Amino acid sequence: MGWASRVRDLFQQAKKVQPCIIFLDEIDAVGRQRGAGVGGGHDEREQTLNQLLVEMDGFDPKQTVIVIAASNRPDVLDPALLRPGRFDRQVVVDKPDIKGRRAILDIHIQEKKIDKDLDLDVIAKRTPGFTGADLANLLNEAALMAARQGKKIIQMTDVEAATDRVIAGPERKSKAMNEKEKEIVAYHEVGHALVAKFCQNTDPVHKISILPRGRALGYTLQLPQQDKYLMSRAEIEDQIKVLMGGRIAEDLKFQMITSGASNDIERATELARGYICNYGMSERLGARKYGKSQGYVFMAKDYSDHSKDYSEGTAREIDEEIRRLIDVCYAEAKQILIDNFDKLEEISKEILEKEVLDGKDFEALLSGVSSESESV
Ligand code: ZN
Repeated sequence: MGWASRVRDLFQQAKKVQPCIIFLDEIDAVGRQRGAGVGGGHDEREQTLNQLLVEMDGFDPKQTVIVIAASNRPDVLDPALLRPGRFDRQVVVDKPDIKGRRAILDIHIQEKKIDKDLDLDVIAKRTPGFTGADLANLLNEAALMAARQGKKIIQMTDVEAATDRVIAGPERKSKAMNEKEKEIVAYHEVGHALVAKFCQNTDPVHKISILPRGRALGYTLQLPQQDKYLMSRAEIEDQIKVLMGGRIAEDLKFQMITSGASNDIERATELARGYICNYGMSERLGARKYGKSQGYVFMAKDYSDHSKDYSEGTAREIDEEIRRLIDVCYAEAKQILIDNFDKLEEISKEILEKEVLDGKDFEALLSGVSSESESV
């Protein structure tokens, strides 16, 4: 039986057993805009979609069959699906906020054996941006880590290790960095952390690590105090400064720069472009949008020709403004690191020894109290 006839069959069965709800998960698999395929080969999918449209039109108002579908890509759906009488109401389900994450953790923790010290509030706080599936994955990772150590219950340390793993990929213990590389990474990461510390509009430093993870050689983790949905102009500027901090620290200490900052530079450039072109935050270029969003780039359709809606002269101005914004942020970040060079040295040496510093260690080192004397 082909897919189109299965759709027909599904609706027939639903009508027989009504009242009834039909739920179609990942509707974009069949519901993508028609005619967008490269060459042939999509006939089966188009027939399925056509059949679905026919069935949804064929509802008589007295019938009690409700059709619900879910998708992560509502932007690629065929417009015919969203017409009145078909899927005419859209409900946006966002990533869960801190309360939502707490409630989701409660569900996933039920069939697991956990230690008394496991603090779900703290875990919820440390996982902004996680979806329900990410949280389930996190707890499964934690359970695996506990099991690998022969433990029968999941402890807070397991969840912490699992969080790092989920956020940054597994530790690459096998790929040892040489001492010089390690030193460069240490100064680079502490550079990020110090600039973050001395900017007013950034999130607190939660952890600094020089253990390579995934593709990153080290990382500095800043965590927001609460979930955020908006970024102010000052926050974007500060974030660009923090991103520049790594490269500046390398330059100040070793009078050389490495390729390690390429991702930072890419992200800073994206932020600067957003600042100017999307959010209208540049005084020189004003509160207008430059360039069209590319929400419809998929399959064979190419919308890139339409994305530039400004002149060559304006393009040059945008480039100059991006350059200027990054230069200003670079200079301010550099001043912070020059003023705090002794702290840069001290904390980098500490992290070379310990490989990981948490937020508390970092604060203690900054205020001049060594973490050893504190723990005594
Ligand atoms: Zn960096």
